[in-house]
Amino acid sequence: MTEITKADLALLAFAREAQEKAYAPYSDFRVGAAIFAGGEIYQGCNVENAAYGSTICAERGAAMAAVLAGNTFFDAIAVVGDSQDPTVPCGCCRQFLAEFNPEMRVVMGGAEDAVRASSLEDLLPDAFVRGFLDQDSGAK
Ligand SMILES: [Zn+2]
Repeated sequence: MTEITKADLALLAFAREAQEKAYAPYSDFRVGAAIFAGGEIYQGCNVENAAYGSTICAERGAAMAAVLAGNTFFDAIAVVGDSQDPTVPCGCCRQFLAEFNPEMRVVMGGAEDAVRASSLEDLLPDAFVRGFLDQDSGAK
């Protein structure tokens, strides 16, 4: 079990703030995320859509804000959802985040006080990352 730090809780507070902005009229499952990158905080919330598949997660929303600001190396992300247990990033978001540091710290919170911390590497072992593209054999 990874110990929870004051920095983890501070980042989680930004995620909780973002969660209040979630647009989740279909699932009513509100999620907020906050990324710490380049000394700055970038927030995101889930945004659902009547075409369910067009929904985007809070984590990817925060990642897009960070990239837009010019930060492509993420130190940590906090995610919080309405679940009783700490909400974990979905598989799609784990892969999306691995692009910006496969070893980033991941702090997770839920509706209750329980908080969990891990690394993206532990949540998504053996991620597909840029290095594989560099191994292009040229055989086409
Ligand atoms: Zn997701």
